[in-house]
Amino acid sequence: MSMQEIINAGEEVLLHTYNRYPIVLDRGEGMYLYDADGKKYLDFCAGIAVFALGYNNPDYNDAIHAQVDKLLHTSNYYYSEPTIEAAKKLTEATGMDRVFFTNSGAEAVEGAIKTARKYAYLKDGSTDHEIIAMKHSFHGRTMGALSVTGNEKYQQPFMPMIGNIRFADFNDLSSVKALVNDKTCAIILETLQGEGGIHPADPYFLKGIRKLCDDNGILLILDEIQCGMGRSGKMFAFEHYGIKPDILTVAKAVGCGVPVGAFLMTEAVAKSSLVPGDHGTTYGGNPLAGCAVSTVLDLFRQNHILENVNEVSKYLTAQLEELVMQHDCLIGHRGLGLMQGLIFDTNKLSPGEVVKRALDKGLILITAGADVVRFLPPLIVSKQHVDEMIEILQKCLQE
Ligand SMILES: *Cc1c(COP(=O)(O)O)cnc(C)c1O
Repeated sequence: MSMQEIINAGEEVLLHTYNRYPIVLDRGEGMYLYDADGKKYLDFCAGIAVFALGYNNPDYNDAIHAQVDKLLHTSNYYYSEPTIEAAKKLTEATGMDRVFFTNSGAEAVEGAIKTARKYAYLKDGSTDHEIIAMKHSFHGRTMGALSVTGNEKYQQPFMPMIGNIRFADFNDLSSVKALVNDKTCAIILETLQGEGGIHPADPYFLKGIRKLCDDNGILLILDEIQCGMGRSGKMFAFEHYGIKPDILTVAKAVGCGVPVGAFLMTEAVAKSSLVPGDHGTTYGGNPLAGCAVSTVLDLFRQNHILENVNEVSKYLTAQLEELVMQHDCLIGHRGLGLMQGLIFDTNKLSPGEVVKRALDKGLILITAGADVVRFLPPLIVSKQHVDEMIEILQKCLQE
């Protein structure tokens, strides 16, 4: 089938919840993707911050192949060694004590919300606890995750949301303090807001939230589904701030292509929250998912992924800064590590238009918020790839 025929066939059967770009991606190699016609694309999206290790990574593929040939699934009624290995490595990497594996990021957020509510319920027996979330946040599309997502457009058609969620302004500590009362059981936020437009938390804000939680017996839930797993230059972005959450959500790069997420917590939270019967999943953390997480964490270390992020992100940041100085349509840039955004003056040029032009020229980028082009390359990216990306981007901005 030609690419257009595949697209037409897709439009007949797939539910129209995405306006997809008109290309069919067929295979990948390192930093590059190829469409069904063989056209090559430099990838600065990584399947939305997923494929950290680069496409067709032989060590990753070998481990996955071996697990496929051995055992894919057992259900959570039984123990499975790859999953226990994965849990051990993930608790070490995060500094958390206990983990529950999910199939997606949204499900990890659901679990985090349930944990926080159960913890508060066991403390005082009441059932009207509140959660404070942030405006312009993104936590996923299931009803609980959507309820803490500060975006009215995503919520409106699906009202009512789950109850007792209050929204504060990100990076405005007094707006959070104003919402705290004796019903508040948790504060949830992204350490670095992704979909909302690449906004890193101010140190003053995040440290203040930590203290606010400690002073009031409130649980801090950090969503590092996008900004975690090395993308910020630390294994988890909260490490930049010298604080720790009580509950942490991860997904995206934690499986590098095998759909898996997790919510993790401290022993103090685990001891006084979910018990047998409270939560479950059929697929979550099956042997394939366990093998993926375990392998990803091994390969991060073996391939010195963090070192590469820190080296290349400095270079990327410098190149983006230069672009901002050269082009009228650019207002600035924001980000941490290899999670960067260019901010556009949308009266002059829209991020969507830039992404379209880039795709045409063989570069994959995505937008964030209303005015940002987002850079989320696989974490194996080199300075040469940055140069190649900037060269194409220059042409897109000049057109
Ligand atoms: C992508 C994302 C989610 C949702 O993850 P899914 O796997 O798409 O359900 C939640 N939170 C953040 C910060 C994300 O970037």
